[in-house]
Amino acid sequence: MTALMGTKIERKTINKNKNCDWLIVGAGYTGLSAARKLGQLNSDKKIIIIDAQLAGEGASGRNSGYLVDTTLNDGFTSNKEISTYKNKTDIYKLGIDTVKKFIEEYQVDCDWNECGKYFGSSTIKDKYILENFSETLSNLGFDHKLLLKNELYKKLGTNFYNCALYTKGGILIHPGKLVRSMIDTLPDNVQLFENSELLRWKNNNNNIYCDFKKAEIVTKNIIFCANGFLKSLGIKENYNFPLTLTASMTRPLTDSEFKSIGEPLEWGVLPVKPLGATIRMTKDRRILIRNTAEVLDQFKMKENDLKNRAKIQAIGIEKRFPNLPKNIINFTWSGIVCRSRNSSQIFDKIENNIFAAGCYNGSGIGVGTLFGEQIAIKASNGKSKEIDLIERRKKPSWLPPQPFLNIGIKTRLFYERFKATAEI
Ligand SMILES: Cc1cc2nc3c(=O)[nH]c(=O)nc-3n(C[C@H](O)[C@H](O)[C@H](O)COP(=O)(O)OP(=O)(O)OC[C@H]3O[C@@H](n4cnc5c(N)ncnc54)[C@H](O)[C@@H]3O)c2cc1C
Repeated sequence: MTALMGTKIERKTINKNKNCDWLIVGAGYTGLSAARKLGQLNSDKKIIIIDAQLAGEGASGRNSGYLVDTTLNDGFTSNKEISTYKNKTDIYKLGIDTVKKFIEEYQVDCDWNECGKYFGSSTIKDKYILENFSETLSNLGFDHKLLLKNELYKKLGTNFYNCALYTKGGILIHPGKLVRSMIDTLPDNVQLFENSELLRWKNNNNNIYCDFKKAEIVTKNIIFCANGFLKSLGIKENYNFPLTLTASMTRPLTDSEFKSIGEPLEWGVLPVKPLGATIRMTKDRRILIRNTAEVLDQFKMKENDLKNRAKIQAIGIEKRFPNLPKNIINFTWSGIVCRSRNSSQIFDKIENNIFAAGCYNGSGIGVGTLFGEQIAIKASNGKSKEIDLIERRKKPSWLPPQPFLNIGIKTRLFYERFKATAEI
């Protein structure tokens, strides 16, 4: 998504030794929000933010743009666990509020559209899942509605979906525009270094020594905001793991193609089955689809593998829009997300001078922005009602070591993919 936008001019890389008061690792929503807040709270301190790639080129510039108020695929939909689910949605709400405040304060245009979202399935049997979910949403006061095939066809321009739950509270945004605005509004006392991968770090006598390819940074404090790479940096290793997702986007539909599907307004559908496709009709009439998830550790997927994933996405589009031409995808990309076993997030003071925030289980636009700001407040010895709420969440649960972890994840993904075959 950031690839669709112009390039930022000046880029700096770590090639000389440096000292600082604060080092932030990772320049996505979390790291950039932490840097902004830390810079505001500590105007006299030297703050550095680094990223192994270009800032915003991680998942933050590569996601589907659903700023969610509710999620379905996290196992917390039963009434029995309603207090856990409420805590989760309270955090989502704070996330939305934080992004909204940011874009209002800095006059950011990120194609903000309060159009709600759909949880949809082509399998009518899945209606019972939506009815159960509806009960939870009613108990918590979320405005929503169950829709069936004909109504969905009118809204979405596809008759693929047989049932869906529409929730009014979801917002669609342009993720690349949002992260770019966070880069452009970094305070003056924050220095950004890109293409600077942190290779190793160690904490010794209250100084943290950080090795890069060509130089070292010695910092008094550090905040890890590397999300899908937290585990590889040794942060909460037994509580999170990375997953690689891929997505594709078509060229804008022509007037006649758009007419042929009924000229729908912008919409977003999330799957009822966890590994089904998320699919969006964007404001500029592009179709965006994400329908793969797998275990891979590199920053970006190899070109050939990406081409193969694009074929899966082309099939997903064809299933939903059989009358559109076949070769209309013009971007395919991969991105890495961070997951925990129980879908809970990381927000921690690990040692006196070491902090970490991340692991949003695929819903990090709002929560990442919120956690970034709040971890900066916590690290500055501040307090807030947001921190109190975040700290009431369940903590991520323990995961087995390798190779058992990857065997377990791959088996689970295989099973979920099989269950979602029709929805991919
Ligand atoms: C295809 C896709 C679709 C998604 N759809 C949605 C959606 O619709 N809604 C939603 O809310 N979320 C979605 N997500 C998830 C969302 O993008 C993430 O939760 C969010 O971007 C996390 O932000 P972050 O800043 O914590 O992490 P990231 O944006 O991943 O940033 C972490 C940064 O750390 C850097 N880094 C890692 N290791 C190192 C190192 N050793 N040294 C230096 N830098 C390092 C990386 O380069 C990266 O830029 C999606 C993700 C993907 C991939």
